[in-house]
Amino acid sequence: MAIAPIAAEFDESGEFPHATIKKMGEMGFMGIEIPEEYGGAGMDSLAYVLALEEICKADASHGVIMSVNNSLYCHGIMKFGSEELKRKFVTPIATGQAVGAYSLTEPQSGSDAGTMRSRATRDGDSYVLNGRKSWVTSGPVADYFVVFMVTDPEKKQKGISAFLVPGNTPGLTRGKKEPKLGIRASATSELIFENCRVPAENLLGQEGEGFKIAMTILDAGRIGIATQALGIAEAAYEAARQYAIEREAFGQPIGAFQGTGFKIADMKTRIEASRLLIYNAAMAKERSKTDGGRYSLEASMAKLFASETAMYVTHQAIQIHGGMGYSKECPVERYFRDARICQIYEGTSEIQRLVIARSVLNA
Ligand SMILES: Cc1cc2nc3c(=O)[nH]c(=O)nc-3n(C[C@H](O)[C@H](O)[C@H](O)COP(=O)(O)OP(=O)(O)OC[C@H]3O[C@@H](n4cnc5c(N)ncnc54)[C@H](O)[C@@H]3O)c2cc1C
Repeated sequence: MAIAPIAAEFDESGEFPHATIKKMGEMGFMGIEIPEEYGGAGMDSLAYVLALEEICKADASHGVIMSVNNSLYCHGIMKFGSEELKRKFVTPIATGQAVGAYSLTEPQSGSDAGTMRSRATRDGDSYVLNGRKSWVTSGPVADYFVVFMVTDPEKKQKGISAFLVPGNTPGLTRGKKEPKLGIRASATSELIFENCRVPAENLLGQEGEGFKIAMTILDAGRIGIATQALGIAEAAYEAARQYAIEREAFGQPIGAFQGTGFKIADMKTRIEASRLLIYNAAMAKERSKTDGGRYSLEASMAKLFASETAMYVTHQAIQIHGGMGYSKECPVERYFRDARICQIYEGTSEIQRLVIARSVLNA
């Protein structure tokens, strides 16, 4: 059951690729860094990015579903969850039996996530969740969610908490599926909470720790999105390189024109630089497992550079293909649309620059 041959069809239909995602789960792709005792593959951060890169070369939609399961969902529970939460909420995703999702964004708060309004109110042994979350990757299909809500509005960012919510909890409904430019086979939707009651033990970390948890998880997530960008860029580069060798104009292969050759040279160089930034961030993440440090700077630099590279490379790949590059019969058209999201989600390129500048200026 290969991904590459079905990627164009699922992009066109916008259907969620249930069968291949299930197969990836069974093969261990949804919990690569999760220890085997929780159903994962028990490998390291570098193994994760290497595997994700290959999946994203074939299809960025499968890639983002994999990235969200590994980084935005499992990683946070492994880092902040109790033994009981890990067993209950990580194992089904890491073994590929279920799909996880991460819900931070709201209609009025994206980059400025600390201004969220959805409320979780303690009521005896449970919390009651109310509000509307938006743009949730895998929202229409996920079995479990990490959800961030305000528990104490007076404390602003320090009054946000994280909860684990099964998708079948009464009071949780899913909004309409978003019609998207790219990564069309990854389903995205709103989540609506109306008196949705979850047990108090589903609190992830401590009350008030939610914003810190959300940002820590995003460090891991950004390495995943950087890797998604790298995979897309590599696929586009390889298609352009082949075309530059095969296509002839004015009596020679178009790659022999310096104008084309220089494009290919810049594409290749930026891809290799992205790869090194990603491996650097993956190694920083691996070190953090023993020293407990953050790796926000490394993750943001990798995401910023790799996503800008994916945009540059897919743009040039269309140019090198000429009219064919504009056709839906040629995959570079899909790579171009898929690349665009990497500059937006899990922190826009502007937000990555903000993180990098703050980090190096100690601001
Ligand atoms: C397909 C898709 C999937 C997504 N999946 C998820 C998900 O699974 N879970 C989830 O929680 N969210 C998800 N998101 C939401 C995503 O993370 C946000 O869209 C993103 O963080 C930007 O927020 P926003 O859309 O509200 O834009 P805004 O924050 O309104 O930003 C608009 C513009 O203003 C700029 N801007 C904002 N603040 C600054 C600043 N301080 N300095 C400079 N420029 C600034 C931004 O860079 C951007 O260009 C997804 C979004 C999309 C499109």
